[in-house]
Amino acid sequence: MGFTCKIFGHKWNGCKCIKCGVRREEGHNWLIVEGKCIEKCSICGKEHTIEHDWNGGKCRRCGMDKQIETLLNECVDELVQMYIWAPRGFPMVRDETMSVRIVGKKLADAGGFKLMLEAHKRFVLKNPYMGRNLEMCWDGIGGWAG
Ligand SMILES: [Zn+2]
Ligand SMILES: [Zn+2]
Ligand SMILES: [Zn+2]
Repeated sequence: MGFTCKIFGHKWNGCKCIKCGVRREEGHNWLIVEGKCIEKCSICGKEHTIEHDWNGGKCRRCGMDKQIETLLNECVDELVQMYIWAPRGFPMVRDETMSVRIVGKKLADAGGFKLMLEAHKRFVLKNPYMGRNLEMCWDGIGGWAG
């Protein structure tokens, strides 16, 4: 924190102090990223996802397929549930890894490596500590290299 901010307090421009550069979690200026269902703050660059704009089976904005999106959500939920019972991750030698691999295979069949990557990304948001374990469990599926 800058010296003047310490005495007089921050001078906020939305989410960022214009005097010392410190950021806060309020006052973001969200702008929709062209062609994506993502909003980005024009001040600090932070991103978050927004609801898709469904038009029949496809998103008007980003072109996402509704069935794929549903599958993605289901798979991520399933994985999150599985890891509740394996708080230290899945040991590579046991049969339990199979259930995680089945989900990976489902994703690979529906959308290949790209979809697995997206699912992995979403999973990590919910369970940051197990991202590496999931990578290893999925080794070899749909071109995935853990
Ligand atoms: Zn400041
Ligand atoms: Zn911001
Ligand atoms: Zn979308």
